[in-house]
Amino acid sequence: MENKKFYPIKRYLEFYNHAISDLESFWEKEAEKIPWFKRWEKGLVWEEPFARWFVGGALNASYACVDVHMHSWRKNKVAIYWEDENGNTKTISYTQLYREVNRFASALKDIGVKKGDIVVLYLPMIPELVISMLATARIGAIHAIVFSGFSSEALADRINDTGAKVLITADFGIRRGKFVPLKEIIDSALKSTPTIEKVVLVKRTQEEINMEEGRDLLYHELLTQAENYTEPESVESSHPLYILYTSGTTGKPKGIVHSTGGYLVYNYATYKWVFDVSDESIYWCTADIGWVTGHSYIVYAPLLHGATIVMYEGAPDYPHLDRWWEIIEKYGVTIFYTSPTALRMFMRHGEEWIKRHDLSSLKILGTVGEPINPEVWEWYYRHIGGERCPIVDTWWQTETGGMMISPAPGLGPVPLKAGSTTLPLPGIDAEVVDDSGNPVATGIKGYLVIKRPWPGMLMGLYHDPVRYKEVYWTKFKGVYYTGDYAIKDEEGYFWLLGRADETLKVAGHRIGTAEVESAVVANAFVAEAAVVGVPDPIKGEAIVIFTILKDGYKPEADVKENIIDSIRKQIGALATPREIYFVEKLPKTRSGKIMRRILKAITQGVPIGDVTTLEDEASVDEIKQLYDEVHSMLKG
Ligand code: ATP
Ligand code: MG
Repeated sequence: MENKKFYPIKRYLEFYNHAISDLESFWEKEAEKIPWFKRWEKGLVWEEPFARWFVGGALNASYACVDVHMHSWRKNKVAIYWEDENGNTKTISYTQLYREVNRFASALKDIGVKKGDIVVLYLPMIPELVISMLATARIGAIHAIVFSGFSSEALADRINDTGAKVLITADFGIRRGKFVPLKEIIDSALKSTPTIEKVVLVKRTQEEINMEEGRDLLYHELLTQAENYTEPESVESSHPLYILYTSGTTGKPKGIVHSTGGYLVYNYATYKWVFDVSDESIYWCTADIGWVTGHSYIVYAPLLHGATIVMYEGAPDYPHLDRWWEIIEKYGVTIFYTSPTALRMFMRHGEEWIKRHDLSSLKILGTVGEPINPEVWEWYYRHIGGERCPIVDTWWQTETGGMMISPAPGLGPVPLKAGSTTLPLPGIDAEVVDDSGNPVATGIKGYLVIKRPWPGMLMGLYHDPVRYKEVYWTKFKGVYYTGDYAIKDEEGYFWLLGRADETLKVAGHRIGTAEVESAVVANAFVAEAAVVGVPDPIKGEAIVIFTILKDGYKPEADVKENIIDSIRKQIGALATPREIYFVEKLPKTRSGKIMRRILKAITQGVPIGDVTTLEDEASVDEIKQLYDEVHSMLKG
């Protein structure tokens, strides 16, 4: 399993040790790399559990992302290569982006948006989404992006939580060749959102849409009156840049608030360390901007660096399974950042689609969102990276604002291990602890905590300081609780094992869902697996597996036996599953994470709870039906 493919880490260690020994001045040095209107007076003010970074400093996110490039040759550089699933393209230079941001900021001011106002963005992956984010930030307003795949109820819930007056959206989204009627969804959501006064619509199609007199405004019409320049509002470092709701994998989404100064500094630094970005880089992150990965590593970090990004609107497998590889070849992508769930989907369909394309431009591959099983890691390394590109498996959360534990090739080569997120980034004091908060021994599972604040740390949960304290700062005194379960190995490498509240406890042994899932996926015929624990009178909990086979395989007896064998070999007989189900789909969040809490609810016959973040309800019906059938047979 070990993959010592890149050496050595001396430079990283020096850097790391310096950072930890003098945290505040270390981050102040990083802060000097982004443009400020006024220098801060204090690097960090820590009033547990609230951190304020670069206190007294003033800046503007849109200035730091676009204006700053107007003073160098980068003004002519491509900021965004945009492409949709049909091959329509737009190429936007930094000057063009600057102009559009200024003009839309002026339009927003004209309709009454002011510093500190919250503006909800419900937009597909089009350049206007990036422009809206930066325009909002330019005038000191706060954006709250809602992923444009959400239903009208999910949108209404989030609007009502923020109390926003303005919504920016589009007439349609386009996915898998179909128009998604966003305006209809919005009209239905707005029936229950009394605070919204104005809706700005990007008109993408010639289709007719309902326009509500006095409320609905067209983006392009607003721009006809707009000024070419809008003064960027100077905001205090702790001024909120945005609110973003978490994926809701484990329950009701949380409204995470991020600062301007600390967040941008953290994004700037981590992007350089992890992706080793340079002016030659062509960078593509496949996430949707509606998730934190898109906020931090499609928009803010790359633009701060003046990088060239590829932005893609569409599904990974539409119109064909090599759509992504085609794009990498076309633009000569050098840095590619995606999720394990997408990789497992491609793996399921085999390599022939990949072989059709020249992927030799790639230099660094990244992954985020879930633990990546060693088998998937090896597949990625070999078939996408041509055994040439380091894989940066980046562990982080909406709450952390940026990557926390990850290889950092930008700080020198890192020896990699397939399936490990390797080492904490400089300035990140991560530890694995037991129930009493004491560090566990090497190789022992425990809870991942962060012991010191970092600039990307959330400022809190929107208007809910009580929940903020309860969720992150109550389980262990004085340290940030991540809710994830991990192991640190003898070299200090971190292995993420899934969410602590999804952990299995079998005959007194705590087993991470990711451990069992990894053993299942290690079989060449398995595409995906999800594991849950069900109550068992003897063992406390017994293991139930839901799995998807690769194309061309059937759930025959030896398939089951092989799965059980691999679990016994990799973990031990105690993890032998009680039941294995073969399914077509697993319940996932719209960001592609497996929702084990839904599987758990099905196996226990209890209501499945909040499903607003669920991707496809058909997955639940399939599993429920299968599970109930088997169990009624067992009972009968
Ligand atoms: P909620 O908190 O509402 O349940 P969520 O945790 O899925 O939603 P995100 O902030 O999008 O919302 O996801 C962060 C989580 O994703 C981490 O806590 C971790 O469980 C998982 N994760 C992210 N990156 C990795 C990674 N590289 N390896 C393992 N797990 C990861
Ligand atoms: Mg979470």
